[in-house]
Amino acid sequence: MRAAVCTPGRRDSVRVIDIDRPRCREGEALVRVHMAGVDGTDEDINAGLYGEAPEGCDFLVIGHEAVGIVEAVGAGVRCTRPGDAVVATVRRPCPGRCLNCRNHQPDFCITGDYLERGIKGLHGYMAEYYSESMDYLIGLPHELLDTGCLLEPLSVAEKGIFEAFRIQQRVLWEPRRALVLGAGPLGLLATFILRDMGLETYTLATRERGSIKARAAEASGARYIDVNAEPLDSLPKKYGQFDLIVDATGFSTFAFESMGLVNRNGIVCMAGLSPGKKEHSMPTDRINMEMVLNNKAAFGTVSASRRDFEKSVDHMLSIRKKWPGLMEKLFTKKESLVNAPRALRRDKEDIKAAVVVS
Ligand code: BGC
Ligand code: ZN
Repeated sequence: MRAAVCTPGRRDSVRVIDIDRPRCREGEALVRVHMAGVDGTDEDINAGLYGEAPEGCDFLVIGHEAVGIVEAVGAGVRCTRPGDAVVATVRRPCPGRCLNCRNHQPDFCITGDYLERGIKGLHGYMAEYYSESMDYLIGLPHELLDTGCLLEPLSVAEKGIFEAFRIQQRVLWEPRRALVLGAGPLGLLATFILRDMGLETYTLATRERGSIKARAAEASGARYIDVNAEPLDSLPKKYGQFDLIVDATGFSTFAFESMGLVNRNGIVCMAGLSPGKKEHSMPTDRINMEMVLNNKAAFGTVSASRRDFEKSVDHMLSIRKKWPGLMEKLFTKKESLVNAPRALRRDKEDIKAAVVVS
């Protein structure tokens, strides 16, 4: 079968090759991939900055955001049938099976020895087929096939927002206003979830108003802020403080400075990755004073658990019902599997690129 692979550590090494079709063992399903999304992590892998091949293999099948159809099931599988639509989670437990990995939360693995399909030590899903244990497959209705590869990034946003609400159980908290930094797929999906939950939401990014990203945010009823026209520190005067802030930029100055914009007792959720090693000078005294005097919280979040994927299926259904066509619009580029390397080259106005496999 054909698969998009890279040589970890080597720049621009993504290529399409022929490899053996995976076998479907006891307790597993063989999945025919329909569509696989590309994200910043895949771009970092293709830039040679990230990614690890499985032990004993010199390449890594990329892709960790895919929707597919069950083709066959192994012995003992009863909860799914050929023809079912599925998405697989990304993280797998560490070999020592730490407390959190044993508790089905490898996204909170404490050893750091977790594996990630398509990223760290396990082949991914940007191929004609993959096989996976039923423990890691999430069923979804067929009507979600065309946006199903957004379930994984949606689950990352879902986890961040869910964790924020859990942490906020420290106090009586009635969030009304949310700010999302970034209007890439993660920022927009977080915006849609917050709007779906009924929060007054502001989405801030570097594109002009009227750009495709701005329009996508506004279509869900969010207010779009072009940070070049309205800098971060001008926002509280204009719009007031925000109860919940989600950073989906990975631009660390934004993430930290946003702590000055969050309301008393509020919370900042840091969900953007910054693979760079930039040094910035920050107004750390002011940020520290504000955090302490106002009981603010900030936390980081990565990956997602089965719970977050399952909850994301409900959100996807609800978002598609409230704003028909909006999720579909996030796909600004679609390529066939043989052209997978092209999907990894981002054009300026791209939101989401995807590879249509079958
Ligand atoms: C994935 C996460 C993963 C992270 C770091 C993200 O793109 O969505 O599941 O943990 O990359 O590898
Ligand atoms: Zn672990």
